[in-house]
Amino acid sequence: MTEVYLSRCNTYDVNEILPLLQNAMTGLNAYNKLTPGAKVLVKPNLLMRRDPDKATTTHPAVVEALCLLLKERGCVVTIADTPGGLLNESILRNLYRETGMEGVAERTGAKLDTTGEQVTVEVKNAVKSHILTVLKSAAEADCIISVGKLKTHGLTAYTGAVKNLFGLIPGLLKVDYHARYSDVNSFSEALMDIANWAQPTLSIVDGIVAMEGAGPSGGSPRKVGALLVSDNPHALDVVGASLINLSTDEVPTLVAAQKFGLLPVPEVIGESVDSLAVPDFVHAPSDGIRVLTNPMFSALVRSHPKVNAKQCVGCGVCARSCPGKAITIINRIPHFKLHDCIRCYCCQELCPNTAISVKQPFFMKLLH
Ligand code: SF4
Ligand code: SF4
Repeated sequence: MTEVYLSRCNTYDVNEILPLLQNAMTGLNAYNKLTPGAKVLVKPNLLMRRDPDKATTTHPAVVEALCLLLKERGCVVTIADTPGGLLNESILRNLYRETGMEGVAERTGAKLDTTGEQVTVEVKNAVKSHILTVLKSAAEADCIISVGKLKTHGLTAYTGAVKNLFGLIPGLLKVDYHARYSDVNSFSEALMDIANWAQPTLSIVDGIVAMEGAGPSGGSPRKVGALLVSDNPHALDVVGASLINLSTDEVPTLVAAQKFGLLPVPEVIGESVDSLAVPDFVHAPSDGIRVLTNPMFSALVRSHPKVNAKQCVGCGVCARSCPGKAITIINRIPHFKLHDCIRCYCCQELCPNTAISVKQPFFMKLLH
């Protein structure tokens, strides 16, 4: 059994979050590894430049409470994440400013990784990639703490602790990843290697206000009131997914973890899952390919990206980020070659104007 601390928390007040984290960290013996002077990499989910109230990114109050505890312990803290797409110092500074991380760094003394520098590392017992290119700041850390956001996801159904670690792959390299592992199952298996390499000392998920519907960027905030902490990201994700009414079989990263014997049985400490679960949580539009894989049905059942022309400003970010090279901008509007689309939904994730949604075929709607 692997402990997952599940706390009720209905506010983004740092002073209320701090004792909940402290209690979990003490219970999990995390301070044995978080020794004075240890270099700790804090990895929030900073998918894109967006106000924290939109529930697209980890709320800064959760990161701040964690950084204060680490600072009190005498750890040397760096906050780092990279969105998909091009990376440079100015892009990263803007990301940290808009997501509230710049303020966290100022108030807690944490550093921000504004370099996005990368290094190559080796993964022991890899299932897909023996070599990874990751953020240098992560490779140089003594401990990594993942601070994810509870959200739905168009590709992987759910994002919490394990999927958050994909952000350790810098910027545009994420696009290569999607191209190389173009179906959701192999992509999810590749995420096992990232989690295996990172070995996060702690995984925390901000489920105080989650995102439902067209996550990870186009959905709506939904209050769940949950803060989750574990030293095992897979165990945490079992509990996180069940809070939003997703079973292990419905989450490809959990299916992959189970396949490779990485999925422990979680023991929930604190609140019960039933007391915080949201049974009518709206899931991401499902990709029928997960349900029906026969090519004959493919055209009928596969969801696909669709643009809302009124919201599109023709910036071209989607086309530049598309691993399948399936988007052409014509007259400042993206056009999709669905034959080349691998349904990774990077375009939806990265569109700064939430102009791309996931369209579910009429046939699949009939099945619901
Ligand atoms: S859909 Fe979004 S990312 Fe693509 S061109 Fe329009 S505004 Fe830019
Ligand atoms: S069109 Fe969108 S969903 Fe399709 S491959 Fe390109 S980025 Fe991925």
